[in-house]
Amino acid sequence: MRVYLDNNATTKMDPRVLEAMMPFLTEEFGNAFSMHLFGKETGNAVTASRAKIAELLGISAEELIFTSSGTEADNIAVRGVAKAYKNRGKHIITSAIEHPAIKNTFKDLEKDGYEVTFIPVDCNGVLDLAALEAAIRPDTILISVMHANNEVGTIEPIKEIGELAKKNRIIFHVDAVQTTGKIRFYPKELGIDLLSFSGHKFYGPKGIGGLYIRSGVRVARTITGGGQEKKLRPGTTNTPAVVGMAKALELAYENMEEDNLREASLRDYFESQIIEKIPEIVVNAKGVKRLPGTSSITFKYLEGESILLSLSYLGIAVSSGSACSSDELQASHVLLAMGIEPEFAHGTIRFSIGRFNTKEEIDYTIEQVIKVVEKLRMLSPLWNEFKR
Ligand code: PLP
Repeated sequence: MRVYLDNNATTKMDPRVLEAMMPFLTEEFGNAFSMHLFGKETGNAVTASRAKIAELLGISAEELIFTSSGTEADNIAVRGVAKAYKNRGKHIITSAIEHPAIKNTFKDLEKDGYEVTFIPVDCNGVLDLAALEAAIRPDTILISVMHANNEVGTIEPIKEIGELAKKNRIIFHVDAVQTTGKIRFYPKELGIDLLSFSGHKFYGPKGIGGLYIRSGVRVARTITGGGQEKKLRPGTTNTPAVVGMAKALELAYENMEEDNLREASLRDYFESQIIEKIPEIVVNAKGVKRLPGTSSITFKYLEGESILLSLSYLGIAVSSGSACSSDELQASHVLLAMGIEPEFAHGTIRFSIGRFNTKEEIDYTIEQVIKVVEKLRMLSPLWNEFKR
């Protein structure tokens, strides 16, 4: 059996998305900016896709630009706002648990003379609002906080952060790569000024993302080229991917609540079985609002990579809480920021359930996880020491 439980990393493209893209991968190949008939065909498709996505998100089509990924949307937003508002101040704020697309962009800006404050989170990964309020200064120009964390699934108090940002006249960017197309929300209701998302996280194609920029917010250009995407993301439009992303978002919104319920019930069933059958584990962020399909579990006294590779051998794809940096494995900054001990952070596995997973797959996974953990613990000196 092959079981894909890494849907937070990327998703399988929905066949209906591919179908919508096909004409633009074959006969309708014109440059969407060309004035001739071939350009008109693709240009109209891009316009219709932009309007569809804008409608679903409750924004206007003029407030949406297409990018090549969530990472690029994050970069254009954060660097563009930092540059546009630098005369007002050079203090920028983010959380301690951001995706590298934000974390490393802030670190880079720090080297360029911006002052960065990383706001801590609690043991569930929820941002400390009091610490955020205390960090705000007259020269703060930008707050960027993710909507949901990719590793543990925690949903952040975005509305409250939006209110704080508005009260203090600070631009508010949200990395919503893990929530757009997964949970229903409207950026304008949450006080968001800029919002990044990515097509491949909601059963669309890879290599396409989007950035909502509220009308009136200034973003300086950080990539130079032609006039596409309000000059903020120049480069020939990826028409098939734009069309695919719009179709994917449309499908996501059609079945959002059912998908959420189904994924959450599979996830809760999975967790209840694992908790019942395996000792010395922690389900991270269990007590707070989190993404319906995400389950982050710390298996104490084990290495996540051994679990990951053993499960992979058995046909099950998951991800671990460590990141490779040079030849060293580093514990995830997210888990460390939540106060998890480094040795336990290393034993953390993320299971992310998606649209195409079935109860049978979850049953198979439960069975195999129990076996793998038991076997690896028998070989683990740490576990044997603990048992003594
Ligand atoms: N932000 C978050 C929270 C993510 O989870 C990811 C991808 O894992 C990204 C940004 C980057 O998105 P992309 O893969 O489209 O560059």
